[in-house]
Formats: sequence, C-alpha cells, structure tokens
Amino acid sequence: MKYISTRGQAPALPFDEVLLAGLARDGGLYVPDAWPALGPDALRALRGRPYDEVAAAVMLPFLGGRIAEADFRRLLADTYGPSVFAHRAVTPLVQLDQRTWLMELFHGPTLAFKDVALQLLGRLFDHVLAVRGERMTVVGATSGDTGSAAIEACRDRERVDIVILHPHGRTSAVQRRQMTTVLSPNVHNVALQGTFDDCQDAVKAMFNDAAFRDGLHLSAVNSINWARIMAQIVYYVAAAVALGAPDRPVAFAVPTGNFGNVYAAYAARAMGVPVAKLIVGSNANDILARFFASGRMETRAVVPTISPSMDIQISSNFERLLFDLMDRDGAAVATSMAEFRRSGRFAVSQGQLARALELFEGHRCGEEATLETMARVHRDSGLLIDPHTAVGVAAAQAADLDPSVPVVSLACAHPAKFPDAVEKATGVRPGLPRHLADLFEREERVTVLPNDLGTLQDFVRARSRVTAGAA
Ligand SMILES: *Cc1c(COP(=O)(O)O)cnc(C)c1O
Repeated sequence: MKYISTRGQAPALPFDEVLLAGLARDGGLYVPDAWPALGPDALRALRGRPYDEVAAAVMLPFLGGRIAEADFRRLLADTYGPSVFAHRAVTPLVQLDQRTWLMELFHGPTLAFKDVALQLLGRLFDHVLAVRGERMTVVGATSGDTGSAAIEACRDRERVDIVILHPHGRTSAVQRRQMTTVLSPNVHNVALQGTFDDCQDAVKAMFNDAAFRDGLHLSAVNSINWARIMAQIVYYVAAAVALGAPDRPVAFAVPTGNFGNVYAAYAARAMGVPVAKLIVGSNANDILARFFASGRMETRAVVPTISPSMDIQISSNFERLLFDLMDRDGAAVATSMAEFRRSGRFAVSQGQLARALELFEGHRCGEEATLETMARVHRDSGLLIDPHTAVGVAAAQAADLDPSVPVVSLACAHPAKFPDAVEKATGVRPGLPRHLADLFEREERVTVLPNDLGTLQDFVRARSRVTAGAA
C-alpha cells in the first residue's frame, strides 16, 4: 500500500511517511493508490464485534505493514477503550424515527467527533516517532472549537509537545477551560493578545520560517492528514454493519465543513460498504450545496453561524474526491486548484458532475431551519441535538431517497458544547456529561503573550523538547 498525491508530482510514500508529512510536497493530498476490499463475507464477520476489532479490520490494510499488527491492535484497544470514550459502542446509534438514526460521535474527551480520529492520531504519532527516534512540536491556532481535540490527542505523549494559540478573552469559558485545564507537562496554552486571525497568522509565520520549522520539527494536526480520514472510515463501516450490511444498503447524512468526514464515507463505499447515498449538509456557508447544484465551486465571504465548525469557504478535502472525478489525473487537479487559488472558482464538466451526483447530494440549512430542526427533534423524540447535527438531520429530511433505505445522520458534537443555541431552540440548557462535570472547578494553566512573532517563537523554542538540528 502506497499513497499518491492528488496533484501527481510528489513521490508515492508509505503510511508512516504520509502520517508525518500531512500535506504532499506538491501541495496535494495523499490518497491510497488502490482501495482495499471489504467484501460481503468480511462485512458479515464484523457483526457484533467490538469497535476496536472493526477498526483493525478496516485499517490494517492501509498500513501496508509499516506498523506491526500487534502494536497497532494495542494502540486501538487503548484508543477506543473505556478511559477515552464514555460509551462502550464508541459511536452508538440512536433511533430518531422509523428510518432515521443518529450516530453519536461525541463520546470522546472533548465531546466532538474529531476525537474519534485524533485520539488515534496522537498515539500513532508517538509510536512512529519512537520507532524512528524522533520528536515533534505541534503548533496550532484555534478560535476555541478545535484546539481542545488536538490538545487531548497530544497530551502526555512521550514524543510530542503541543502549543495551541487562542485569542485572549475571545473564546467561551467552556472552550477555554477544555484547553487550559489540561495540565500535562507537554501541553502549552497561549492566550494571544489579538484576534483568531492574529493567532492563525502567527502559526503560518512560524511554519514559513524554514529554520524554525525544521529545527523544531513543527507539525500540524490538520484535517487533511490521511490518517484522520482512515480512522473515520471505521464508524461508517460499524454503522452499516449494525443496520444490515452487506445485505442492506444505508445512506449517511453528514454535516460538512472541510469535507473530511463525508470523504471517509466515500472511502467506506469504495471499499465495498453498500452506501446508497451521501447527503452533504451545509450551513449558510453553502459552497458545497452550490457545487452539487451547478458543478461550479465558487468561494464567497464566510458568514458566522451557530454551527461554527462548518463556517468555511474552502473544503480542503474535496480535492480528494475531485481526483477521482478527474480519473486520478493529478495534472488536471493541479490545474483546477491553481485556478481556484487565483480566481476563487473552478468548474467540473457535466459528465463529472453527473458522476458525483450518482452518490452525493447537497442541501443547505440556514440559521432558522437549524433552530427549527433542533426544536422538532426535541419535540418528537426528547433528544437534544447540537446545531451541527441539526444541519445534517435537516439535510437527511430534504433528501430524495428510497424510503426503505435507512439514513444515519451524524451527531458531530454533544449538545452541551453549544448550550446557548440548544437552549434558544428548545428552552432546555444541556448539562455537561459526567466526565466534564467538574470542568469549572479544575485548575487552569495558560500563558498570556503579546502578538509578537519573536516572543511567540521564543516561547515555543523554550518548551519544545526537540533540540535544534536533531529533527
Ligand atoms: C469539524 C466539524 C464538522 C465538519 O467536519 P468536516 O470533516 O470538516 O467536514 C462538523 N461538525 C462539528 C461539530 C465539527 O467539529
């Protein structure tokens, strides 16, 4: 198993190299050179198996022997065990109505679906770095929403130090505390005196400083890393098997931002899971819904919504689907992406769009409809859902589907992560789950720093255990 770049110029790499590289050197994203098969017998054999066993069956072929099977199974047992995920099924299904299920992806440490992949990613980094005798320094910026998942993934890792910048005084108390109450010695929170954009600019500047980047072996844990996609394939397989695969097809409705999560569903189908439809839910930032309606990808200004993790104008993982729509022609993808960067738009042919629409459909759900969906689900089933989840549920409702096909709608965050929106829609303020109930009593550790690159670089250098030049 080798990985090739969607832009066709970077060398093919094995799994461990792709894990550490993230982005390909030609600016492309890595995808497997061929999809391993998960045939009908293999799917049947997964019925009733624990999550970590399903995970091993799905992911082992992607490793290409670069991590010993026994080591990988140990990592999986640890990752998907009871000390990390608060539910035995890890990603349990809950029935909403006669044909709709919610898949709860929020039982991890930070209450959002990103934990499912990032908890494995942190352990994979540690393992691979230990084998190679290396260390790395993870640096990232957060508006409050995604920083905690990266921190929880990297905390207490032997080979990894993590520095996360958030804008001082501009994150919610829950979001800040989910980061700053992690007191592990390798976790460093910086409250930057500036905006989220200042945080992002500072991180970009650190990565653009080649001596700094290479000297500290800087890395990001961003959503284009292949290993994150790979880990997300598992819950699609688990859900499909639970609902009758390979003998019964299933559809998935996915609240979508960077297109990482729904691309993992595409990958599950490519491996052999009978997926009837992939329903892409967008909030008011509806670039993907407009793409599926027209074949044209066209950026607009981002508008802030109550589902902030989907407030994006470029879905970076879409490039992986585009690569297949263009018959894996890396040069053609590179041309489209260059055009997109230059003009903010590109288009696919009518034939390519038609192929995409055989599997995908896109739906936009605005702010009012999001609140209405949260209220309706609460009325009909007593369940509280978060605004991101509601966008997916609304898309599932709007989809054009054979009524005999079950739809699994992805619950991407716990309602307590977005209590204001949930309360506004339902009148009920969701409480934090047990493992976070004492969040407001916990001790915090954070360093407030001015928006000055030199000061920030000194801070990172002083805390990283990577010695200059040894990376
Ligand atoms: C990240 C995130 C999304 C978007 O997922 P993508 O993989 O970027 O499409 C949706 N909902 C929540 C709660 C998220 O954290």
